[in-house]
Amino acid sequence: MKKHRQCICHYLPPYVIGKLARTSDPEAREKARLSAIYGKISRAKRVGQPSVNLLSTAVSPGAGANRKVYDSQNTLKQRKKLVLEEGGPTTGDIAVNTVYEFAGIVRDYLKKLGRHSIDNQGMDIILNVHFGNQYMNAFWDGDEMTFGDGDGSIFTNFTKSLDVVAHELAHGVTQYTANLDYYSQSGALNEHFSDVFGSAIQQFYNKQDAGRADWLVGNEIMGPTLFGESLRSMKAPGSAYDNSLLGSDPQPSHMRDYFTGQDDNQGVHINSGIPNKAFYLVAKDIGTDKAMLIWYRALRMLWPDANFGDAVEIISHAARLLVKDRAVPEGSPQTVRLAFKEVGLP
Ligand SMILES: [Zn+2]
Repeated sequence: MKKHRQCICHYLPPYVIGKLARTSDPEAREKARLSAIYGKISRAKRVGQPSVNLLSTAVSPGAGANRKVYDSQNTLKQRKKLVLEEGGPTTGDIAVNTVYEFAGIVRDYLKKLGRHSIDNQGMDIILNVHFGNQYMNAFWDGDEMTFGDGDGSIFTNFTKSLDVVAHELAHGVTQYTANLDYYSQSGALNEHFSDVFGSAIQQFYNKQDAGRADWLVGNEIMGPTLFGESLRSMKAPGSAYDNSLLGSDPQPSHMRDYFTGQDDNQGVHINSGIPNKAFYLVAKDIGTDKAMLIWYRALRMLWPDANFGDAVEIISHAARLLVKDRAVPEGSPQTVRLAFKEVGLP
């Protein structure tokens, strides 16, 4: 039987941390080394924890989708000190207030899609801030989100970006829907859906349309050292960064450049560039919100080991269903097909 690979989804891909760990700057090397160790600790936490199915049944239906922000106080502990609960007064801590606000925006957007919190049963949204010491990453690990402060030079505080919060929360949505294996093409689809939610929510918040949006992922957490760079571009995968510290963006935008290596769980953050570009093309044509309706419908119909070909079929099928519901424009299924064809997925 194929082993299921649960997502413990870090915002910064392993190849970015790996590049930093090999840089000539000893300070950057040390920070990257520590961040990689913290990442391993967060993975170890999951050992012996209930599986996703048990977690989902542990949630009482109709619960309030309350936000709870915990301060890790620069330790490696999650849920250490509860500092802000739903409806509570804002604190003097900007990371706490910001992550609380951004999680609320994501929750509102999910509601707009007809979804009641991450699991659609109103589970509470648990957010941990100030995890570790200058920890350079953020992650979703099955039931909560955790954010590092960054070092302030290479990466800023990870709570600073709505895109990061939305991307990580979306990993939770995927877990409770298609539950895509975090490996190979299904893993690249998992990453892809998080980037789609991240971009769509950011555009919704900024009241931008597809034509005006920058379609960049991770640009807001770049510190002064990496100013002007980003982690990914959905509009032009492969063009997000090029510098001496990180090297260059390895994302392909077409199947002809598909990454076949073993790194990054067989390229989950790399090959996601291919469907990302297709989403951008569809959004540019019918608008991001309409494209999002199609992708969200598809996410609820996909399955754990779905590959790119399956996704093309299901996303096209979702478009046809939504045309019947008059929720998206008539030609949307053709738009979807053409967009995938353009990235080499006929
Ligand atoms: Zn991710």
